[in-house]
This record gives sequence, C-alpha cells and structure tokens, in this order.
Amino acid sequence: MGLNKSKILKNEYVMGKITVAKYIRKYFLEPSFLLLIFFRFDCSAQIIETRIKVPKDGQQIVQTEYTGKEPTNPQETEIYEPQVPKVSPSINGSAPSDAIVLFDGSDFDEWIMVKDSSSVVWNLNNDGSMTVKDKSGFIQTKRSFGDVQLHLEWKSPKSIKGDGQHRANSGVFLQGLYEVQILDNNNNSTYVNGQVGSIYKQHIPLAMASVPSGKWNNFDIIFRAPIFNSNGDKIRPGTITVIHNGVLIQDHVEIKGVTRARGWPKNPKHGKRPLTLQDHKDNSRVSFRNIWIREL
Ligand code: MG
Repeated sequence: MGLNKSKILKNEYVMGKITVAKYIRKYFLEPSFLLLIFFRFDCSAQIIETRIKVPKDGQQIVQTEYTGKEPTNPQETEIYEPQVPKVSPSINGSAPSDAIVLFDGSDFDEWIMVKDSSSVVWNLNNDGSMTVKDKSGFIQTKRSFGDVQLHLEWKSPKSIKGDGQHRANSGVFLQGLYEVQILDNNNNSTYVNGQVGSIYKQHIPLAMASVPSGKWNNFDIIFRAPIFNSNGDKIRPGTITVIHNGVLIQDHVEIKGVTRARGWPKNPKHGKRPLTLQDHKDNSRVSFRNIWIREL
C-alpha cells in the first residue's frame, strides 16, 4: 500500500491503547417486547455496540452497530499489536511446532490403561501404529486436557469381521466422556447417530467420509470443554467440530452430556480430564497412529 512509516507508527500507538473501558451487560424482559442483551465497548478509536434481541417468539436477532466518528482512513482500523504467535504448520500430518505429540509410533509413554493406570498393553506395531488389544480396556493420556485441537489417524483391519456396531468399533473420548465414534461403515449400516463420526447418540454426522477398509482415516477435532459453576451447574455447554478426511462432519455441535449407550446424557461437573481411546471388546482391531494435540 506504500504507507508512510510515520503514519503507521502513529496508528500502532493509537490502536495499541484500545482497551475495553466499559463492559455493560443488562437484561431487560418486557412481556410485550423483547429480551435485550446489551454489550457496549468503548475504545479510544471508536465505539462498538452489539445487540442481541430475542423477541417473544424466540427468534434471535443479532445486530452489530459501529457508532461514533467513522474512520475515513484505512490505517485507523489496522491493528499491529499484539503480534500473532508463529507456529510451524503440520506438513503431511506431522505435528505443528506447538503441539504435544501423544503418539508417534515409538512408545506408549504418554498413555496408561484406564482401569488401573498400569502400562499400556495394546499392540505397538512396527509401522508406527498401535492396535487395540481386545478386552484389555480403554487407554488414556497421562495428561489432562480442556479445550483442544486434536489430530489422529485410525484404520479398521483389512480383514473385516462383524456387522453394525461390531465392525471396527472404537472411539475418541474427549475428556474421557464425550465420544466421537470410530466405526467401519463401509457397506455396513447402523443407527445414524451411532455411525462413524457421530457424537455418539447425540449428533448425526453431516457426511460419511471414510476411506476403504484397511486404509488410514484422519480425524481433526476441535473441542471446547463444558464449563461448570461452583454449584456444579453447566453454564456453558461443550462443543465439538470434526473434520474427517478433510470433510466437515460435525459443525460446532453442542454436547448434551456424557456419552451413554443407555439413557440420557448426564452432566456431572468436571474440570480437565484425560483423552481416552476405546476398546469395544469385540475384537474390533482398530489401529491408531500420529496422534497430536494442541491446547487452546
Ligand atoms: Mg465406539
């Protein structure tokens, strides 16, 4: 743009001083009108108002209004500080520079058995993968996590066995509680809220994006953990986004509670918890590789 340097420096100074001087939150409930939630941010450069109106019929309207003197120079709305952190990206599935590598094929150092916290007895393969050892139980990370971005790769065995829920069934349990289903649904139908990529019994996936049986699938998951107050009430639901082999299959869906095969999801209070991987105990022989996680 060929900007004058002195103008940039001036702009950095002005924009750097932007602070939220006021944060006003009011709720108005008029039976004949609207529920009005009113946020007001006063900045040194401009005033921004965002209003969320909820009419009686429940329809929500979001309006963002910029008031005050409107900037006329593009430089007045440019922000230079703070700088965005640099992360060396994932290349061909490799972990980004700020990720925690949970499994790279060399060992189970980041994992333990769920049932007794003992060393992992799942099979460590010589191709950089691991395979569920039937009836040995779930494994979990030694570390606990809250909000995360998770990458993992999984595959069903080439020689598939079983039908419905018993064909290469495993699962990724965020915080050990909320399952993203792993299942071989190639020519194998089941209830859609329990098929591959479902948030088990809570959210049907938008698409079935599996590769053929025996090939590696990618899951990229963005998870926001639920938040509870001191009374144990859930004050913000958790959300999950899942991209399966590059296809969006769960779009920021709201978690209803802990995954359960029977009954309704429940919402016990919890904080950070380990990630777990499922042994479905039916000789499903699901394999995993290249698991990394970024705390958000
Ligand atoms: Mg499962």
